[in-house]
Amino acid sequence: MSAIFPSDTPQHIGLDEARAIVQALAASRARPTEPIAAESAVGRILAQPLRAPHALPAFANSAMDGYALRAADLPLTGEQALRLIGRQLAGTAPAPAVAPGTCVRVTTGAPLPSGADTVVIQERVRVEGDAVIVGAGTAAGANVRAVGEDFAADDEVLAAGRVLDPGALALLASFGIVTVAVHRRPRVAILTTGDELVPATAVPGFGQLRDSNGPMLAALAAASGAEVVAVRHVGDDAQATEQALRALAVMADVLLTSGGASVGDADLLPQLAQRHGRVHFWKVRIKPGMPALAAEIESALWFALPGNPVSSAATFLTLVRPALRHLAGREPPSMLRAALTHAIHKRHERAEFLRGSLDCGTDARLQFSAHARQGSAQLSGLAVANSLGLIPEDARELAVGSVIEVLPLPELWP
Ligand code: AMP
Ligand code: MG
Repeated sequence: MSAIFPSDTPQHIGLDEARAIVQALAASRARPTEPIAAESAVGRILAQPLRAPHALPAFANSAMDGYALRAADLPLTGEQALRLIGRQLAGTAPAPAVAPGTCVRVTTGAPLPSGADTVVIQERVRVEGDAVIVGAGTAAGANVRAVGEDFAADDEVLAAGRVLDPGALALLASFGIVTVAVHRRPRVAILTTGDELVPATAVPGFGQLRDSNGPMLAALAAASGAEVVAVRHVGDDAQATEQALRALAVMADVLLTSGGASVGDADLLPQLAQRHGRVHFWKVRIKPGMPALAAEIESALWFALPGNPVSSAATFLTLVRPALRHLAGREPPSMLRAALTHAIHKRHERAEFLRGSLDCGTDARLQFSAHARQGSAQLSGLAVANSLGLIPEDARELAVGSVIEVLPLPELWP
């Protein structure tokens, strides 16, 4: 155990314990909501259930191009001649009422003329002058979209926590809802640390490399429903780091730092967390990403992630993303289960996240193949992986076909 933290600070904890702490921390926070215009709400999360303000369809209408008539006039066998008394197109003025022995020409979506209760499709009739000769075979009430068959008034249309995707936006528009209450996006600030880092625009000098975690974490946060309010960098300097931490913590709900979280000479973050924050855990028995630290600083949640790019990505996905999703108003991302395409021999005592490919096998089951390059500094692992496969802490030998949990990498949707 490290002497940095008091003995009651959870250290070297298991993945499940770390996740439970993160979940509790996230759940203890307010999730503010805000009204926004429906037209700019794509991707946002609905804060309250949406109930239908009226029935949908709001009026009975024809599902087909054809003739509206009374079911009582349908022939059981043979044919029946009806007098054509008008036309009702979608969006035109009301046609005359359909009396016994008459019919009205209708198009798809046209309001059902009063008196009519059935539409015969145009392929089932012959038109001779103003007579419409209707054949047998149409059921009473056919081809009519009834009032409320989609939603009755006051039905729940969308549940709270629903992503406002294109289908949801179509529903809002159908009900004339132009303003909608959504969860405010959690504000995320990112601080990358390391004397060796230069921005992507610079040419690295001796021993330097470009900061890839800044853009990666910003994209991961955005893909988890967050608003990224700052992406900054500091060198391995305690005073500069402390200043940056404080400045970012007051503008963010969640602060992410990258690098300096372990026990190396330049690893300043654990001491700073102990001095200026409230530490909830340090070091999780996972590979990659063991040095991850969770704390609070000012009113922000703070995750200190390790600097190795793959460690940073894996700890974000397993620890930070569930918290962001909760703050954004969503359920935690669900793990899938997939069969291994190859055997695993694990020698260490940590849970391991393997970068790999999740796909559907010929037996229609999900399968997971770990990629060859699993180094925590190897960006090639991120170039082709679509998921992380979780090998549990206590597993050592897993045969082909063993079922493991797999976490799909987020697409650009929260
Ligand atoms: P650290 O966690 O600070 O000890 O860094 C571990 C490794 O990750 C080192 O090789 C760093 O150079 C590298 N690293 C740290 N931060 C970044 C970053 N923002 N982008 C790319 N690599 C990084
Ligand atoms: Mg460093």
